[in-house]
Amino acid sequence: MKKMGQLYEGKAKKVFETDTKDVLIVEYKDDATAFNGLKKGTIVGKGVINNRMSNLLMQRLEKAGIPTHFIEEINDRETYVKKVSIVPLEVIIRNIAAGSFSKKYGVPEGTPFKAPTIEFSYKNDELGDPLINSYHAIAIDLATAEEIETIKKYAFKVNEELKAFWESCGVTLVDFKIEFGRLSDGSIVLADEISPDTCRLWDSKTGEKLDKDRFRRDLGGVEDAYAEVMKRLEEHI
Ligand code: ADP
Ligand code: UDP
Repeated sequence: MKKMGQLYEGKAKKVFETDTKDVLIVEYKDDATAFNGLKKGTIVGKGVINNRMSNLLMQRLEKAGIPTHFIEEINDRETYVKKVSIVPLEVIIRNIAAGSFSKKYGVPEGTPFKAPTIEFSYKNDELGDPLINSYHAIAIDLATAEEIETIKKYAFKVNEELKAFWESCGVTLVDFKIEFGRLSDGSIVLADEISPDTCRLWDSKTGEKLDKDRFRRDLGGVEDAYAEVMKRLEEHI
């Protein structure tokens, strides 16, 4: 399949058309942003790690019965994916309090939850990705009630699979963001990426942060953290 025109350049990836209908190429960059693009930087080697990690995890999720956009890895930074129409909701699952949840509700970072939580943000950079509930999302036609039910079911299943997998690597899955899309037949699949950019991953023993919070919070050792978490994944996948 031949790489054709660029459809979109986002903050972390570029998306290209191919000469095959409904197949796209995503290209992972080393660019890093935080706080809705306010903080910008580069994490050397991030694109290679995120491409590989996302592909390995999506293949694992497929085997567990969750449909994904993954088709085939092309090289270090590029992957064939099924073209979807993205449901403009960032789906966030949490197992342990951190980040915006800790701030908003005054729950100290690291407090485990009695049960995993789900929330949605409206994927809209101009508005700063505001929190939105499912009634609002249905009301303004971001998704149907049926799609929301499917998304919730898949998202919790993704959490169960990933939590168990990361635990086997000595890594605690604190929270993560995923996106879903519609294939041309209308069915819902997991899309976008799963990586240290989109998950909070803490070393199970030491609590050390092995994810993008090292960049967001200027903790240093960003590249080393991405490499460490990738190494653990490759040893256990
Ligand atoms: P952002 O748009 O937030 O800057 P990225 O740099 O990751 O994010 O850009 C990738 C874009 O591609 C995102 O908007 C994402 O929703 C979209 N996308 C991810 N997977 C697919 C897919 N399979 N088909 C179409 N679009 C996709
Ligand atoms: N997240 C993401 N993209 C976003 C916002 C959040 O991938 O635009 C991920 C983030 O990495 C974390 C989870 O979603 O794993 C929950 O993030 P939170 O709401 O705590 O926001 P943050 O503190 O990152 O602003």
